[in-house]
Amino acid sequence: MKINVDLDRCEDHGQCVFAAPSVFEFGDDDTLHWTAEAPDTMRGDIEHAATSCPVAAITLSD
Ligand code: SF4
Repeated sequence: MKINVDLDRCEDHGQCVFAAPSVFEFGDDDTLHWTAEAPDTMRGDIEHAATSCPVAAITLSD
């Protein structure tokens, strides 16, 4: 599955980092970094991250 984050919407709330820490993390520059493609075995955590985002910045596709 492919993961995209609209950084124009992202307000660094960090819920995605708590939901799927192996995919989303804050870098040393305090901006969000993420893995652009992840295995389907992680779908549950990643979908949880997307629905947790208060500004709906995360979009997923297959
Ligand atoms: S939860 Fe949404 S707003 Fe917060 S860091 Fe993740 S993508 Fe950005």
